[in-house]
Amino acid sequence: MSLVDGVGRSIDYLRLSVTDRCDFRCVYCMAKNMTFLPRQQVLTLEELERLAALFVGQGVRKIRLTGGEPLIRPGIVGLCRNIAALPGLRELVMTSNGSQLARLAQPLVDAGVKRMNISLDSLDAERFRAITRNGDLRQVLDGIEAARDAGFERVKLNCVVMKGRNFDEVPALVQYAIDQGIDISFIEEMPLGDVGRSRGETFCASDEVRAVIAREHGLIDSTENSGGPARYVRLARHPGTRIGFISPNSHNFCGSCNRVRMTVEGQLLLCLGQEDAVDFRALLRRYPLEDVPLVEALQRGLRGKPLRHDFSGAGEVQVVRFMNMSGG
Ligand code: SAM
Ligand code: SF4
Repeated sequence: MSLVDGVGRSIDYLRLSVTDRCDFRCVYCMAKNMTFLPRQQVLTLEELERLAALFVGQGVRKIRLTGGEPLIRPGIVGLCRNIAALPGLRELVMTSNGSQLARLAQPLVDAGVKRMNISLDSLDAERFRAITRNGDLRQVLDGIEAARDAGFERVKLNCVVMKGRNFDEVPALVQYAIDQGIDISFIEEMPLGDVGRSRGETFCASDEVRAVIAREHGLIDSTENSGGPARYVRLARHPGTRIGFISPNSHNFCGSCNRVRMTVEGQLLLCLGQEDAVDFRALLRRYPLEDVPLVEALQRGLRGKPLRHDFSGAGEVQVVRFMNMSGG
């Protein structure tokens, strides 16, 4: 069983958002004052599980739980356990801001979560608080260490690079990843949602980040691929650490797109950078015992999956959805 879109791309990766809420308010992801969804608009744990089973039954092999902050959703560990046990699923992975990982890393490994991506934009406590608007750096570093020790197959850091905010910390963040023996990816900021400032002022292309790292380290291009959009290099003197670059603006990767996203409202987003969506919440609630209409909607939706995103007007809002709503 496999899912193929209208232009022949094989779709085997679902990013499933389990909440739009978050304990942080990162400047690139949210506006200062956010309103979150009322409970009845949010998929229940049972509905999330039913969707995961349906997509795996249709050929999805990898599910990433995300949000918002997935680890503040009550019942998250049990949800992970149930999804990880789905026959046919190759791996359940997660993206988290790390704030709850000191407590939850081990239970998540035990529940079957294979890999963990953790966001880290600064190693300076004050800057960290300014970027996340209320995050506590120590809590996140403790979470990263707990994840490193808990036995995930891989732990990776994600860093959104912004001029004037954390670009100068790229070498220190690389060194931190080396010291921890984990990987790190640097991400270009995407114009999703009106966050109350022009993103163009802080935009930093991956090539600039790469050049800064190359000043201190010999870089070896790698053809490795973890099923996502990152391009990787290895460091000549530290082969245990991979550096990834995720460049939605400067290096379009839509030709090899293998994924779709489900928002916690049950909207199937066919492309992060476009508005096209299919309302699965309505279908879940209209057909509580019958999967055929949902499978048909999925197949119909995939036939219309957009060819590519277009962030060419980088800096200005192009998609009104905030990243926490898209399931980053
Ligand atoms: N709360 C979790 C976290 O921060 O890792 C998971 C959800 S978050 C939306 C997922 C990823 O999207 C994070 O690595 C975050 O840095 C990234 N992100 C959020 N808004 C972004 C934007 N406008 N452009 C690029 N990356 C963004
Ligand atoms: Fe929360 Fe993650 Fe968005 Fe930051 S990037 S506000 S941690 S959802």
